[in-house]
Amino acid sequence: MTRVFNFSAGPAALPEPVLRQAASEMLDWHGSGMGVMEMSHRGKEFISIATEAEALLRELLAVPSNYKVLFMQGGAIAENALVPMNLLRGKASADYIDTGEWSKKSIQEARKYCSVNVAASAKASGYTSIPPRSEWQLDPNAAYVHICSNETIGGVEYFFTPDVGDVPLVADMSSNILSRPLDVSRYGLIYAGAQKNIGPSGLTLVIVREDLLGQPHPLLPTAFDYKTVADNESMYNTPPTYAIYIAGLVFQWIKAQGGLAAMEQHNRHKAALLYNYLAQSSLYSCPVAPDCRSLMNVPFRLKDSALDDAFLKGAQQRGLVQLKGHRSVGGMRASIYNAMPLEGVQALVDYLREFEARHG
Ligand SMILES: *Cc1c(COP(=O)(O)O)cnc(C)c1O
Repeated sequence: MTRVFNFSAGPAALPEPVLRQAASEMLDWHGSGMGVMEMSHRGKEFISIATEAEALLRELLAVPSNYKVLFMQGGAIAENALVPMNLLRGKASADYIDTGEWSKKSIQEARKYCSVNVAASAKASGYTSIPPRSEWQLDPNAAYVHICSNETIGGVEYFFTPDVGDVPLVADMSSNILSRPLDVSRYGLIYAGAQKNIGPSGLTLVIVREDLLGQPHPLLPTAFDYKTVADNESMYNTPPTYAIYIAGLVFQWIKAQGGLAAMEQHNRHKAALLYNYLAQSSLYSCPVAPDCRSLMNVPFRLKDSALDDAFLKGAQQRGLVQLKGHRSVGGMRASIYNAMPLEGVQALVDYLREFEARHG
């Protein structure tokens, strides 16, 4: 068996020890005589798996006790509708910060439910920066302020938590949650699809402050009412059981690595290796402003896009896969989430150097 270094933006690589443990427990979880996929979500075995996953997540992120952790489905894209449907609470508008493809999607969907005030936009920079907080035109009557903490496609990441006063801050953290420590108490709601840094697709994580619950849009499906989900411990309907189990193994793995402070150190080290190589190169360039370069998704371009195919082919031959940039922006993108080992980034940098020596 040969495993590649997988730079996919999502679904993305999982830690190898997690996959090995899941494989060893596939037919018989802890002497139950059943695999996790076959268990009733209401049985004591699965309840213990879900309870432990939530407890570990709370421990890793130091989630305050007045926040609910919800295991949902529908991905971050469904949350684009579920956030306004749950959090407008009778208000007419919400503030959104436009930093790229994912915030644009969130804005477009929210417009079905309320008036959207785009309080700041990075459009003028070609979405290569984060507008400084001092330039945001916030509305004090907004139901919430929405940001995307890491634009997976553009590769721009927030390295500050914006102060938005008493208005709840909502963040799509799909592609950078668990990559470094986070002060949950600064947010009203955090959501993330699992398939980048948490586990398999099909699971969506929501962390929400309790006092924001209980005033849903009248047409909100019951299964997507955060209060209903919270009151039923994420078991109002059948949750994505296997994805929750794998997420729990990933949380254990993160804890064993030393928790989020250690993840940050590891991630900063990996990202610096790659960005520093790109910075001194005359063949490759990175479009993103240095102060908001994502630690998770590193977009870069070759000076001559006619070399793209040869670059990707050579990468594939060396077991470096999924480096093609998103179709909307072109170029290359290396996603280096928690599970990407340093050796993977080192192998990529070695290849960048080798390719540059031949084509630079
Ligand atoms: C991947 C991603 C999404 C889309 O998530 P789905 O699970 O496909 O709904 C949304 N926002 C961000 C920031 C993402 O990285």
